[in-house]
Amino acid sequence: MEIDLDANATTPVLPAARAAAIAAMAADYGNPSSSHSTGLRARALLDGVRERARRVLGLPDGGHLLLTSGATEGIQTAVLSALTSLRGRADVDCVLYGATEHKAVPEALRHWVRVLQLNMTVRAIPVGPDGRHDLTWLRAHAPRAGLVCTMAANNETGVISDLPGIAQALAGSPALWLVDSVQALGKLRLDLAGLPIDYAPFSGHKLYAPKGIGLLHVRQGAPFTPLLCGGGQEAGLRAGTENMPGAAALGAVLRALEAGDVFQPAAVLERWRRQLADALTQAFPGLLFNTPPKHSLPTTLNFSVPGVSVRVLLDLFDAADVRVSAGSACSAARAEPSHVLLAMGLPEWRAASAVRLSFGPAMDPALIDVACERIAACGAALQAAQWAGDVPRSKQEAVAHVAQTASVLGDVAATAACQISADALRQLLQAQPHTRVVDVRDTAEQRLKPAAAFLPHASSHTSLPLASLLAEPPAWLMDSPDAPLVFLCRSGKRSDQAALALRALGHRQAWSLHGGLALWAEAAMV
Ligand code: PLP
Repeated sequence: MEIDLDANATTPVLPAARAAAIAAMAADYGNPSSSHSTGLRARALLDGVRERARRVLGLPDGGHLLLTSGATEGIQTAVLSALTSLRGRADVDCVLYGATEHKAVPEALRHWVRVLQLNMTVRAIPVGPDGRHDLTWLRAHAPRAGLVCTMAANNETGVISDLPGIAQALAGSPALWLVDSVQALGKLRLDLAGLPIDYAPFSGHKLYAPKGIGLLHVRQGAPFTPLLCGGGQEAGLRAGTENMPGAAALGAVLRALEAGDVFQPAAVLERWRRQLADALTQAFPGLLFNTPPKHSLPTTLNFSVPGVSVRVLLDLFDAADVRVSAGSACSAARAEPSHVLLAMGLPEWRAASAVRLSFGPAMDPALIDVACERIAACGAALQAAQWAGDVPRSKQEAVAHVAQTASVLGDVAATAACQISADALRQLLQAQPHTRVVDVRDTAEQRLKPAAAFLPHASSHTSLPLASLLAEPPAWLMDSPDAPLVFLCRSGKRSDQAALALRALGHRQAWSLHGGLALWAEAAMV
C-alpha cells in the first residue's frame, strides 16, 4: 500500500469531487453559455461554485472570481494585468517577488516584462533564516515598486508569510499586490477581505480537486487584462468553454471545506506533524529540520540528513512505498540546491539534500501510524546498509561515482539503445529464463523491497548496488558478453548508467529496464 506524503505536489481527488465531476460529464454535461435548460443548469452549477468559493475563502465583495486552469494561469493573468497597467508610468521602476516564491511567479514576471518591453527591474525580496520576508527591505523598496508578489505559504518549507506585516510595509506604496494562495487553501485561514490583496490565485489539485481547475480572485478596481480572449466566457474575462467537470469537483471540495467534516483542523494536523517529526528524528540520527515549526504549515516538514544524499533518501522512502519529494529540483545524477533554502541562508549541502514530507488535511489518521513505522524501517535499513558500507555516504561520493560514467551519460541515443521495455523484458524472460537480472538499487532499498517481489518468473537475479558496480565492475558481469544481462532499479536512471557502463566495457547484451520497477510493477498488473 502506497502512502502519499507528497501532498504539496498534488493530492488525490476526494470521492465526492470525483462523483461531482462524473455527474458533470454525464447527466449535467451542458455548456453554460447555452440558453436552453441543459445550459442553464450548467450555468447554475458554475454560479454556485463561485458563490461557495466567495464564502469559504472570505473574499471581499465585488471584483472578479475567475475559474482558471490552475494557479500558473492565475499568476500569468494577474502579472499580465498588473504589468499592462504599469506601461508609461514614471513613478515606478521595479517589480518585486519573494526570494522563495514558486518559479511560476518570477518566470511570469520576467516573461511579461520582456514581452511588454517594460523598463522595470525584477528584484527578489530577501527572506530571513525563518523564511519570512525582510520587511525592512520591502518597506525601503515599496515606494518605487509597481507590483509586489508574495506567497501565503511556501510549497517547499511550509513557511507562512506575515501577510499583515507585508500589508503594513506596502502602506502608501503604489504597488499592486499579488498573493499566491495555493498552499494556504484548506490548511490556513486566509483573511482576503481584510487585506489589500489585488490578485489571489488558487489551484484545485493541491486540495483534492482534479488537475486543470483553479481560481483567480481580482479585487474590485484592480487592473485587468484577459490572458485568453475568444467566445466571451467568464463575462469576457477568460475565454474558452468552462471546465465543467473540474468546476463541479472544486465545488464539492469547497462544500466539504464549508461543512467542516472532511478536513482536519490545524490542531490535529499539528499533532500528526509532530508524530512524523518524532519518527524521523528517531530513524535518522543527526537529522536536521530546515524550517522552524512556528510560522509553518502544520502539514509540511522539510529536513536533511548529514552525509546522506537526497537521492539515497528518496529511493529509500520509495522502496518503503512512502512517497516524498526532494525539497528542490533534482536529477538522478545531480541535486540542485533548493533556491528556497539557499535564500534562507542554509548551507549548500542542506539545500541540496533536503527532503519534503507533506500530507493533506484529509489524510487518513491510520496512515500516519503506518508512515511512522515505515520511516523507522527506512532508518533501520539505511543504518544496516551503512554498517555494511553499501551506501554512498555523501553527495560528493555519489557524484564521484556518477562522474565515472559521465562520458556515456550525456549520450541520449546510446541510452535509448540499451533500454528494454517491460513487455519486451517479460517476453525475454519467457524465451530465455536464464537471463541474468541485476538489481542495482542500494542495499537499503533492496532490503525494504526485494527484487524477488517484482520478478516471480526470473530464474536468476542478483543484487549489485550501482555505486559498487561503477566503483569496480565484478568480473562475472562480463562472463558471457552475448548473453542478455538486464539491470533494474526504481526509475530506470541507475539501470541506464549500469547498462551504458557495461556496453562501454564491451557487453553487447546489457539492457536497462525502461521506466524502472515503478512502471514494471504497474505493467505487471495490467
Ligand atoms: N504556486 C505554488 C506555491 C505552488 O505550490 C504551485 C504548484 O506546485 C503553483 C503555484 C502552480 O500551480 P498549478 O499546478 O495549479 O499551476
